[in-house]
Amino acid sequence: MKIICIGRNYSEHAKELNNAVPTEPVFFLKPDTALLIRNRPFFYPEFTKDLHYECEIIYRICKVGKHISEKFAHTYYDAISLGLDFTARDLQQKAKDKGLPWEKAKAFDYSAAIGKFYPASDFKDHGNISFQLQLNGKPVQNGNSGNMIFPIDTLIAEISKYMTLRTGDYIFTGTPEGVGPVAIGDKLEAFLEGQSVLKCEIK
Ligand code: MG
Repeated sequence: MKIICIGRNYSEHAKELNNAVPTEPVFFLKPDTALLIRNRPFFYPEFTKDLHYECEIIYRICKVGKHISEKFAHTYYDAISLGLDFTARDLQQKAKDKGLPWEKAKAFDYSAAIGKFYPASDFKDHGNISFQLQLNGKPVQNGNSGNMIFPIDTLIAEISKYMTLRTGDYIFTGTPEGVGPVAIGDKLEAFLEGQSVLKCEIK
């Protein structure tokens, strides 16, 4: 199982981090050891002083595919939820400055929290799915899949040009604007179409 994460898929988020809006999807991987499941707490790692949340729509892949065409991409996922792409922003900035890979900043243990999944068929229009992240009960990110630069079917076509997708893989589709730091004691809760699907306490 692998976790594929899309970077800079919402133009307002790209701008808030002073990144150019991409002309093709940017993606990176997290290993299976990054998964954080069943609303378990996240323990603040000692190697960062600037841990950020990034709330994202995630898709679960349901069959093996390579060179998938956009037209058939929707048959390769069967479930949807929200996830948190925890990011050590200080380490990521260092890596970006030096042109180095992002794994230390993005792929560490439990950096990929995933919520409760719902059947993809429950969602009539994948181009109009709203979501929200609350930090200690206050909304900090409001997103809609309609604002993605590259929608899920385009992402699947692009990713599968380079790597085989397998059953059980997850795609994190990128975060909207409003990312920010967390501190020990904070409580995060993510809502998909108004429904609470993920809770995470920072310890
Ligand atoms: Mg992200």
